[in-house]
Amino acid sequence: MLIHGHLVKGNDTDQETRCFHYHTEIDRIAIKFYCCDTYFPCFSCHEELGCSSPQVWPIAQFHQKAVLCGFCGTELTVNEYLSCNSSCPSCQSSFNPACSNHKHLYFEV
Ligand SMILES: [Zn+2]
Ligand SMILES: [Zn+2]
Ligand SMILES: [Zn+2]
Repeated sequence: MLIHGHLVKGNDTDQETRCFHYHTEIDRIAIKFYCCDTYFPCFSCHEELGCSSPQVWPIAQFHQKAVLCGFCGTELTVNEYLSCNSSCPSCQSSFNPACSNHKHLYFEV
């Protein structure tokens, strides 16, 4: 579906990018997968609807926009996301801090 004009491929996605797997108030980011060049709400959605060979963002590409704020539609670069302290630099909406527990699924660490 289109969220703030961006295609987000997810399982049961809402307008702020929550999905079947992660749907608390603060689950409002989608992450672009390097392999598919497409936003997904979470890695499980990518497993179900994406390609079968996930690739993480290489550190050399951390200046690319790869995270979508579901509240305001701002795209953050990987560097901006990793240094944002779980809130959107544009609208100050909170992001789920637990996402950083799985950042190795999206970004080279
Ligand atoms: Zn993929
Ligand atoms: Zn999901
Ligand atoms: Zn925002």
